[in-house]
Amino acid sequence: MEKVRLGRTNLIVEKLGWGGIPIQRVGEREAVSVIQAAVEMGVDLLDTARAYTNSEHRVGLALQKTDRPVILSSKSPIRTAKIYNDVQESLKQMKVKKVNLYHLHNVSNFEDYERVLAPEGAYEGLKRARDDGLIDHIGLTSHSLNVLERAIEEGHFEVIMACYSFLEPEAAKKVFPLAKEKDVGVLAMKPYSGGVIDEAGPALRFSLSTPNVVPIPGSETLEKARENWKIFAEGYSLTEKDKERIEVLRKEFDRQFCRRCDYCQPCTEKINIQFVVGLKSVIKRFGPHTQEVGWMKNLIEKARNCSECGECLPRCPYQLPIPDLIKENLAWFDSLMNQEK
Ligand code: SF4
Ligand code: SF4
Repeated sequence: MEKVRLGRTNLIVEKLGWGGIPIQRVGEREAVSVIQAAVEMGVDLLDTARAYTNSEHRVGLALQKTDRPVILSSKSPIRTAKIYNDVQESLKQMKVKKVNLYHLHNVSNFEDYERVLAPEGAYEGLKRARDDGLIDHIGLTSHSLNVLERAIEEGHFEVIMACYSFLEPEAAKKVFPLAKEKDVGVLAMKPYSGGVIDEAGPALRFSLSTPNVVPIPGSETLEKARENWKIFAEGYSLTEKDKERIEVLRKEFDRQFCRRCDYCQPCTEKINIQFVVGLKSVIKRFGPHTQEVGWMKNLIEKARNCSECGECLPRCPYQLPIPDLIKENLAWFDSLMNQEK
């Protein structure tokens, strides 16, 4: 087992953290006991978000049941200085006086990046929250390596969060060395590629064996939390068998897995392509109640307008059959919703 220093935050945490997305899809009692168990096992960094419905609230309930010290990480998608109100709501939900790491959530294009850093943007709101002692450190999460590179170069953030798995390994070349050089802490989200990879061993060992980053896999069951911790505790060098399996899985998902790069945009129908192409993984992580979350519902409904014009196809560097995947995912989603009725 190993501890990692999160860049110039100077926080030292276990190399395995915990992510708060999947916990939304189980009942409250189970959720709280899983979070509590993860902390009792030794996890000392819990990541959640304003956008993860009941996740912050559940983290708050679990924290009341343990005395173990935990680094808390949360985030907000608000792009203006009003993010300050979200910080206050995070504190209220988690019943704490301070959140250690607070991120600007999913700043994945340069327009958003410039918006959050503009006067009265979200970055200023977080600086006020830090001055007022509500948070300790300001971070940024993004699905775009280009945005992350720029954010690290410009030096505003003490910690960043990037997607990283064996299906999405590019951050290891493009972002992690720069973060190390600039002394920025790195949290690695989606070690299972957002629920796409079912094989925990190769997937988690791949992320854990990358120096200086802290993977934050989510777990909604005790079994899953224990499995993650066991992989961590037993040592995590990639075995020859892992490497072979990774190659097989990479081939299997090659023309299906969306890397969320957005090169396919703009869509003629303004569809959020990466969302709908990755819909199965979203539902797997967030649970079927996705249907009730307004913004997700809107994105799903909008995707029904795909005209199959094909304009996005040559722009996808991974040659994903985008209109086919959209059709397939919407049909799958509709049948899932019919079963739920
Ligand atoms: S094929 Fe569908 S998703 Fe692609 S650009 Fe056309 S409308 Fe958009
Ligand atoms: S569909 Fe292709 S181009 Fe679009 S976000 Fe996914 S991987 Fe990138």
